[in-house]
Amino acid sequence: MTISKLAVKSNKRIELIDITARVQALISKKGIRQGLCIVYCPHTTAAVTINESADPSVRQDIINKLNELVPENGNYLHAEGNSDAHIKSSLLSCSVAVPISNGQLLLGTWQAIYFCEFDGPRNREVIVKLIRDD
Ligand code: ZN
Repeated sequence: MTISKLAVKSNKRIELIDITARVQALISKKGIRQGLCIVYCPHTTAAVTINESADPSVRQDIINKLNELVPENGNYLHAEGNSDAHIKSSLLSCSVAVPISNGQLLLGTWQAIYFCEFDGPRNREVIVKLIRDD
């Protein structure tokens, strides 16, 4: 299968952006019924994660706790001034894999796929690799 890219534009320095519907639209467009969806973030100051979509407070709690653990201004060596963003990126992940069943992402009821911006606002991209198993 081909590799798809989604353009993601962040509007804040730190932000979790729900990309679930856009990933699902790619699966539907390619007509994949059974398989695996890999969502990959090719950036060193961003990440992808899966977490709750129902209560937006969860997203804010994640951001608040990451900021508490890894403050923007700290005793960092990296001269670019965005060390916290690099560390936050590594604390989460650069990829997630979700099974596809009956043409749908097999996410839990409350789960969504988030692009995690840690050094925005920027124009970013997310790579989506779809593996057909039907
Ligand atoms: Zn940097």
